[in-house]
Amino acid sequence: MRLVLLVGPTILLVFSASFVLAWTFDRRRRHLLVFGASCLLFCLGTLSQILQIPPGAGPNAVVSAFIYTVSVLCFTEGLLARTGKRTSFAEKAAITLLIVGGIAFFFYVERNLLVRIYILNFGYGLICLGTAWRLRDMRYGRLTERVLFWTLLAFALHFFPRTILTVGVAAPDPSQFGISPFWLALQFSLAVLGVALALALLAVTVGDVIEDLRRTGNLDPLTGILNRRGFEEGAAQRLADRRSHPLCLVIADIDRFKSINDTFGHPAGDEVLRTFAALVRRATRRGDLSARFGGEEFVLLLSGCDASGAAAFAERLRAAVSEARFGSLPDGWQVTASFGLAEARAGDSLAQLVARADAALYAAKRAGRNRVRQHGGIPA
Ligand code: GH3
Ligand code: MG
Ligand code: MG
Repeated sequence: MRLVLLVGPTILLVFSASFVLAWTFDRRRRHLLVFGASCLLFCLGTLSQILQIPPGAGPNAVVSAFIYTVSVLCFTEGLLARTGKRTSFAEKAAITLLIVGGIAFFFYVERNLLVRIYILNFGYGLICLGTAWRLRDMRYGRLTERVLFWTLLAFALHFFPRTILTVGVAAPDPSQFGISPFWLALQFSLAVLGVALALALLAVTVGDVIEDLRRTGNLDPLTGILNRRGFEEGAAQRLADRRSHPLCLVIADIDRFKSINDTFGHPAGDEVLRTFAALVRRATRRGDLSARFGGEEFVLLLSGCDASGAAAFAERLRAAVSEARFGSLPDGWQVTASFGLAEARAGDSLAQLVARADAALYAAKRAGRNRVRQHGGIPA
């Protein structure tokens, strides 16, 4: 046996191990395990053909067709699962039955190599084409997703012209099959496009992990709303975008929070912060930004909202806080917060806007807490 034949299976094993390894880092990404299984199965299918296990042309054709089909279905299943799309088991079983049954029929009942070649190649081409269609939104995704989409489409489409051009209407002579143009073109295109596809998949996996890190890096672990970094990122975009204006910034600071910590303990204080964040989240609309800026200070950016709208909003939130029940505190214990707000001016930086809202907050604290103040001095 020529050792060069084992290059393909070895590459597949390496890809399989990479996907399984990536999965062990984050077991929620089960589709990575499915990709690993797909590569491993493809490797086994190739080995079954190279090593002629099981022996005999008929059993070998049926068994390898079965392994390849499950491998292709695992691959498409993983792709769909990655984007949360569901697939039906019955559909996969029917496809497997159709392909493997067709191979068995055209070997044992009506021996016809040409039809078997077309069943396998057009079958896999159609499965991949259907998957590409279901994933067509990936065309607008991140760069790695777009690369994966177009590689998948090229992979799906290549089955058709390659088969027609290299086989045509006459099956290769079975005794010369291993050196027929069909077989050589198949091996070459599978090696090139298969490796491209696996690399695109790995790139998307890396992209997914980075995206996840970026998202969690922008969130406050205690309350689940944005942290300062996430807020600054979103706020810079809105400040620069004229369509978001009028734009108001509200800073809310819990009153005498230190004494809550001192009296009931830090965990009770944390619980108050979580409840406060939930009230903030309930009060805001889609498109608004809300963040914990650190400590017991919360910042909100209200899009399409002028100063009087923001003052009404802050007043509603102030009332909701003062009436809310905080589970970690004794019944009847009132938590209040003070609010400062400022409207963005043309050319404002975030720091300038925050500084004005902060000045208003300071005025609210000085005036006795549990109230809303607007920059510019007009009491809200
Ligand atoms: P004021 O009405 O003037 O705002 O008084 P205050 O006590 O709320 O303000 P101060 O800034 O003096 O105290 C804030 C306290 O918040 C001090 C700190 O121990 C506490 N704190 C900061 N971060 C956290 C946190 O993540 N969890 C808890 N439980 N407490 C925190
Ligand atoms: Mg405070
Ligand atoms: Mg404070």
